[in-house]
Amino acid sequence: MNKVAYITHTDCTKHQHSDGHPEQPARITAIDDCLKQDPIWSSLSQVEAPPASNEQLQKAHDLTYIKSIYAQSPTEGLVQVDPDTAMNPHSLRAALLAAGSAVKAVDLVMNNEVTRAFCNVRPPGHHAEHDKAMGFCFFNNVAVGVHHAFANYPVKRVAVIDFDVHHGNGTEDIFKNDDRVLFCSSFEHPLYPFTGADTQNPHIANIPLATGTSGEKFHQVVTQQWLDRIREFKPDLIFISAGFDAHKEDPIGGLNLDEADFAWITHQLVDIADEVCSGRIVSSLEGGYNLPALATSALAHVKALLSAP
Ligand SMILES: [Zn+2]
Repeated sequence: MNKVAYITHTDCTKHQHSDGHPEQPARITAIDDCLKQDPIWSSLSQVEAPPASNEQLQKAHDLTYIKSIYAQSPTEGLVQVDPDTAMNPHSLRAALLAAGSAVKAVDLVMNNEVTRAFCNVRPPGHHAEHDKAMGFCFFNNVAVGVHHAFANYPVKRVAVIDFDVHHGNGTEDIFKNDDRVLFCSSFEHPLYPFTGADTQNPHIANIPLATGTSGEKFHQVVTQQWLDRIREFKPDLIFISAGFDAHKEDPIGGLNLDEADFAWITHQLVDIADEVCSGRIVSSLEGGYNLPALATSALAHVKALLSAP
């Protein structure tokens, strides 16, 4: 195996909300095509995502909620589970594969088969709470991966870094009373889901950012508020909720980041991981809705994951 695993599944392209919805199947193929056309492709170990089991999901989600998602899965047409979030007949499988990819990534990294992993999957996960689907998300993929790591490996502490343009309310909800997790979320504020700016919690480090925030300012606040804190927390594994909708070209977000900024924060996290946890990072796709910008941002992120200490 190579240093970095690339985990995806073609069935993640079969899930679809209504026509014209920004969280669309082409997000997966745009990233996939961009990576395949780049020389780094041969440096990635390609892995097919397996579906998450109910036992794995239950560590992050309420059983009644999981059953309700299964029960709502339609045999035809669309079912709205939230104003922004719909299921077609393929959505349940895609959601299970997205969560299962994080589980697989943890297994590969913790068994030293690879050092880091990037999951190109949808639906995204970071808005999904313990018992609630919202914001294009059904299961919290990263949270399922974190719980899998705690349950199966000598992992005592993890850091979850979420640089999506939206607050990772679901991840915060699932880990708000779990001080084994340092959760760091940067997000435009005010913006959907309008949470996180007032959080007072000793193991949550949120960074609300004003609309129009530049890369320079982003580097400054991340350096001041996160980097030493993550280092001092000494995580055994670092997770990234890799949303690329803070890109200046994104149609949903209003921040002014670009590929170089996503590469910068990834390099910072790689440096910390190399210092404190043998380089181990599990990254999973969250948002990003301008297809060309999404693809080149994911490429910049994966290139940074490939970098050596
Ligand atoms: Zn987002």
